[in-house]
Amino acid sequence: MQLTIRNLNKTYPNGVKALQDVSLDIPTGMYGLLGPNGAGKSTLMRTLATLQDADSGSAWLQPTEGDTNGAIDVLKEKDAVRRALGYLPQEFGVYPHISAFEMLDHFAVLKGIPASQRKEVASALLQRVNLWEHRKKSVASYSGGMRQRFGIAQALLGDPKLIIVDEPTAGLDPGERNRFYNLLSEIGENVIVILSTHIVEDVKELCSNMAIINLGQVLYAGSPDAALQSLAGKVWEKAIQKSEIESYQQQYRVISSKLVAGKPIIHVLSETAPGDGFKAANADLEDVFFAKIHGGE
Ligand code: ADP
Repeated sequence: MQLTIRNLNKTYPNGVKALQDVSLDIPTGMYGLLGPNGAGKSTLMRTLATLQDADSGSAWLQPTEGDTNGAIDVLKEKDAVRRALGYLPQEFGVYPHISAFEMLDHFAVLKGIPASQRKEVASALLQRVNLWEHRKKSVASYSGGMRQRFGIAQALLGDPKLIIVDEPTAGLDPGERNRFYNLLSEIGENVIVILSTHIVEDVKELCSNMAIINLGQVLYAGSPDAALQSLAGKVWEKAIQKSEIESYQQQYRVISSKLVAGKPIIHVLSETAPGDGFKAANADLEDVFFAKIHGGE
């Protein structure tokens, strides 16, 4: 399958243009949709998940070689999309008094999985996300990381071809985030997984393709490697005093500043060596992100 998105637009009644002519080609594998808060990620994810309508544009799930299914018009054939979709929203409601197992079984009913298979499917998924031993506890009592793993289990019900996870690692501690990465990276290669996130590390760890969006617009689409290549030799760094930040911002295209042991290290973008004590820096994905967001490249 391949997801082909063309010229999607969405303006909310308050005038906010959440999507502006968004066009993306999303192949199977893990696809990172990276953007700061308010970029339009959830609007795009909810539109693809059939939960809200775009004003104009199209999105198609298209078969590629070897697929037996036909093409699905994502914006119009909502039932067909829902059958092919696994969705982990930013927030999902949980019932406080039922066990994780019962809740997953309930989601399996909603997904149309026949009664004869439900127990087996729910058990297998809880084992897969490492929650089997916690199956009798309520999801409401779970830690953030356990909840997200439960969320993946419900998203995997019914063998989806398109999986959408919206900001799944926000609020997870580093250990939980790692467990979650491992779980996501085990999802099959023949499935499209769209991971929406404002956390650069999520994309760096997991995604072979990515897009950067801001203010409803696509600023970059391609591989993380190609994005890094585009900045090679153009990022320079220097440790400065806190009080100097503003004057450096006036003089240089500062793309980021990080505190290292309490002292700011700035990264600037420049085609040629700026001199002035700057050293060549290895561009990382965070530089790409900030360079795109700050309009430097
Ligand atoms: P992200 O998921 O990247 O944080 P969103 O898609 O949630 O971005 O939001 C994109 C923009 O649309 C933001 O400016 C947000 O305030 C606005 N927005 C989102 N939902 C609504 C809504 N229901 N009504 C009005 N504005 C909205």
